Amino acid sequence: MLTAPTLPADFNDFLGNTAAVESLRTAIAAGRLPHALILSGPAGAGKYTLALMLSMAIQCQRQPRELRSYEPALGSTGQALALFCGHCSNCTRIASAINLEEQVAAAVAAREELRETDKKDTRVLIQPHPDLLILPPDPPQLLIKLGQVRTLIQRAHYLPAEAPRRVFILTAANMMKEAANSLLKILEEPPPTVHIFILAENPGELLPTIRSRCAAIRLGALPLDEIEGLLIARRPEVPAKQRALIARLSQGAAGRALGFDLDAYTAARADALIFLRNAAGALRNAAATASGAPEPALSLPKGLDSETWDSRHQSRPGPAAEPDHTALFKMTETYRTGADGQQKTTALLRALSLLLEDLLLLDSGTPELLRNIDLRAELDRLSQSLSFDWIERASHALDQVHSGLRRNLLRSLSLDAFAAQLAEPVHS
Ligand SMILES: [Zn+2]
Repeated sequence: MLTAPTLPADFNDFLGNTAAVESLRTAIAAGRLPHALILSGPAGAGKYTLALMLSMAIQCQRQPRELRSYEPALGSTGQALALFCGHCSNCTRIASAINLEEQVAAAVAAREELRETDKKDTRVLIQPHPDLLILPPDPPQLLIKLGQVRTLIQRAHYLPAEAPRRVFILTAANMMKEAANSLLKILEEPPPTVHIFILAENPGELLPTIRSRCAAIRLGALPLDEIEGLLIARRPEVPAKQRALIARLSQGAAGRALGFDLDAYTAARADALIFLRNAAGALRNAAATASGAPEPALSLPKGLDSETWDSRHQSRPGPAAEPDHTALFKMTETYRTGADGQQKTTALLRALSLLLEDLLLLDSGTPELLRNIDLRAELDRLSQSLSFDWIERASHALDQVHSGLRRNLLRSLSLDAFAAQLAEPVHS
C-alpha cells in the first residue's frame, strides 16, 4: 500500500536537483530570493514539496543556517544556506499542508454543503498558516480563478501576521484569463514582504508577460538508476521486473515513481492500446482500398516492400473489410462523466501519450529509450502501420482532447471523436 505523503526532514533528503535547491537556499539566507518564482518540472518532480520546504525556510522562527566552509577545490565559496527547524509553530503549521490533495478534497466537499448562491462565490483556498496561502486549481474546471487571485492580492498588501513574510503558492500554471491578468498586476510591483511561487508542469502555459516577471527554476528528471535505487530503498516489495518498468514510466520524477500504481497504469494502457490498434487497422484497410487490391505492386505505400505487402494481403479477409469498432466503443462507453471519470480519462490520456512517445522512439531508431519495455513486440507491430506523420497528428489531437477535458466537455463524446480522427489516413 502507498503511504500518505510526508515532508523530507531536511533539504538533504530532497531527491535530486541539488544545485537548483542550493541556489534557492543561498538566496533565502542572503535575503535575495526573488519575489516571484516559477518552479517547473514534470508531475512528481517535487515542485510542491520543495515549495513547502522553501516556505518553511523563509518563515521558520529560528532561521537556522548551514554554513559551507570555503573550499575552492569543491567550488564552494563559503556560503550560508537556509534551513528550517521543523519544530517551531511556523514550520509545523506549514508542514501540515503536505497532504494537499486530501485538504483540497475536504475544502471542495465543504463548499458542496453551502447554499447555491454562496457556492458561486466560494473559492478553494488552503491556509495552513496565517502567512501562507495555497491556491490549487479550482474544480470542476481545474483552473486557478479570479476570486482566488483577488484574495491573494488583497492579502499581499497586508504586512505578515506572525512570520517574516507572506508566502503564496499557486500549485498549477493553468488559470483563467482574468485570473492571469490580475496576477500580472501584483507581479509588476510585488510588496517587499511577499513571495509568490508558481508551480508549473509546463511554464509555456503561463502568459509570456507573467513569465518575464518571474525568476524560474526547473526541476529536471533524475537518472534511471537513481530512481531504481530509490525504489529498492523505499518500495522493496516491488519485484525487480516491475521496478525497472516503473522507473522508466515515471520519467525521472521521484514522487511519481514512489506513488506509481502499476495495476492502474496497466489498465489505462490496455484501453489506450485499443485506440492504437483500431487506428492501425483502419489505416491498413484504407491503404489496401486505395491501392486497388489486385495490383498492389503499382502503388506500394511508402516504406513497404512488395513482400510484406503481399503477405499482409493474403492474411486479410478482403481489402474493403471494415475494422472492428466493437472493442473501441465498448471501451469508450466505460468513460463516463462523474467524480472518477476525469481521473480515469486523465490516466488513459497519459498512458496514450507515453505509448505515442515510445512509437516515436522506435521510429527514430532509439528503442533503448522505450518506457513501456514490456510491450516491445506489440509496439514494433504498431509502428509498421503508424507513420511518423500519423504519430505527430495523433499527439496534436491528444493535446486537444486534454484541453477539452480541462474545459469539462463531455468525455465519452470527445473520446469517440478522437478515435475517429486517429483512424483517418494522413494526407501530406
Ligand atoms: Zn522552524
